[in-house]
Amino acid sequence: MSIYDQYETVIGLEIHLQLSTQSKAFCGDDVTFGGEPNTHVSAISLGHPGTLPKLNKKQVEYAVRLGLALDSKINLRNCFDRKNYFYLDLPKGYQITQDKYPVTVGGGLEIRVDGEKKYIRLHHIHMEEDAGKSIHDVDPAHSLIDLNRAGTPLLEIVTEPDLRSGEEVDAFMTAMRQLARYLDISDGNMQEGSMRCDVNVSVMKKGETKYGERCEVKNVNSMKFARQAIAYETKRQIDLIESGGEVTRTTLNFNPVTGVTTPMRDKESAHDYRYFPDPDLPPVVLTEKEVTAIKAALPPLPNELFQKFTTEFALPEYDAALLTTEKDTALFFIDLAGKTPHFKAAANLIINRISPYLSEKNIALKDFSVPTNQLADFIQLIADGKVTASIAYQRLFPELVKNPGKSPLDLATSLNLIQSDDEDFLEKIIEDILAKNPDKVKAYQNGKKGLIGFFMGQVMRESKGKAEPKATNALILKKLIC
Ligand code: ADP
Ligand code: MG
Repeated sequence: MSIYDQYETVIGLEIHLQLSTQSKAFCGDDVTFGGEPNTHVSAISLGHPGTLPKLNKKQVEYAVRLGLALDSKINLRNCFDRKNYFYLDLPKGYQITQDKYPVTVGGGLEIRVDGEKKYIRLHHIHMEEDAGKSIHDVDPAHSLIDLNRAGTPLLEIVTEPDLRSGEEVDAFMTAMRQLARYLDISDGNMQEGSMRCDVNVSVMKKGETKYGERCEVKNVNSMKFARQAIAYETKRQIDLIESGGEVTRTTLNFNPVTGVTTPMRDKESAHDYRYFPDPDLPPVVLTEKEVTAIKAALPPLPNELFQKFTTEFALPEYDAALLTTEKDTALFFIDLAGKTPHFKAAANLIINRISPYLSEKNIALKDFSVPTNQLADFIQLIADGKVTASIAYQRLFPELVKNPGKSPLDLATSLNLIQSDDEDFLEKIIEDILAKNPDKVKAYQNGKKGLIGFFMGQVMRESKGKAEPKATNALILKKLIC
């Protein structure tokens, strides 16, 4: 057993989620991603003396929405604090955040890794504002500052140290992004920085109950980097302990190019933030009634739908996971499943035909032309054996998309795609094929029974897929024997 197998990695996350409100957390500035630098910056974003912040109510509503979806307790009274530090991209010299009284506490999210379910508990969620962006790689002589992002509303989701591997972190982040998208509170796009996380990592001997000292890898902006940083930190900390050293609590940067974590300069990490209540912002006071109204308006949640799809619709977990990735797809499936008894066929149609079609044409599901009752008829044609699945997918589907108002049966009929078990029709084709392949007929009769596949294939080809397989098979056998 390798020394590394004797240890367990313990991970806790602090996820920053950028909210998709129209305006900033404490003023009316636009928060659209990618505007010209320094164009969404009013005097409030710039923190000019004499300005006053005004709370964006949407931010609170979004926080409560997420908290409710995660079974957290909503703090009906929660407060904003100032976190003081100096940095070029922080125009006010402090960040508005929540320290002692966050908007929610507790709760958690169930993840699935390798078919196993695991509940990851949350410590709390708090509201805060983002800083601006420092750009170090455009001008060789200067750092550039873009303050458009300064004041963008964020939620910080802090987990308990319940995660044990990069795979679990990946599953958790994916589930969190999926949930944020279901709730329409954030696009969770890691490339654009809408979701970032600080990864706290420690190691302990397997069987230990006391956690080891942790290090915090700051600002990880992709799942891949999170996994790499965890792998690197795990090995580094084990090597350190095994060589007689001790892990000390350190704040680290992860370098995606080298795959290595390095301590931040002391000045950056050794902060005394001098938190104190923001005197410009009164406490947020929510009523039970408001929270109940937000709860009543929650959409169905991904984990509930996954459960429903695997039980009520008896879908394999793989299908259920794919269909619940996006809310629109899940709701589309439910709509379709309400119109056909063939749930698995409906799942197949969406996963294997509609989704690839939409991505190929770059169309959103809501703009897909074929209504679900037509799709239900389409599925029924296959189920009744009137059209083979492959003909339906390859030839009928594109026609249906072009003529979404026509009935699939009419389309299949006019395109001559209806399968035939008509004996005269099949007999003529089969006799032709047998006559063209006397050597194969002989070989079959001398015992090479596998040739039935060859004859079936030929008939399918000649009939352009219209030969009904059961009837065809029976008829070929009959002809071969006599
Ligand atoms: P702070 O000391 O900054 O208040 P906390 O102790 O509340 O922070 O933890 C911050 C993050 O670190 C949380 O995500 C938590 O799960 C994680 N964490 C705490 N202890 C450990 C540990 N021993 N190993 C790994 N992660 C940890
Ligand atoms: Mg922290």
